[in-house]
Amino acid sequence: MEQLKQTVRQFVEARGWEGQYALKKDLALSLTLEASELLECFQWKTSEEAVTANRAGILDELADVFIYAIQMADSMDVSIETIVKEKLIKNARKYPAKSI
Ligand SMILES: [Mg+2]
Repeated sequence: MEQLKQTVRQFVEARGWEGQYALKKDLALSLTLEASELLECFQWKTSEEAVTANRAGILDELADVFIYAIQMADSMDVSIETIVKEKLIKNARKYPAKSI
């Protein structure tokens, strides 16, 4: 994950876009816009129809969501692995697993 963060940062810096890291609101907004582009791939289709018709496009939009999520985490100087693990612990408390 750290290497991915560095790869995204290098991409951004090579284009002089590093100012984006200070604009947390805009990173959050962009992440949401990319999530909407992902959702648009499914508009008026079943899941199966959408994936069959546009698997590559769906994966591109999913990647865009991750790229902005990585930038957002980097801008807040947090480890994605840490925050995801911590949130899963919170979720496990909120939604306890069923005992069998
Ligand atoms: Mg996109």
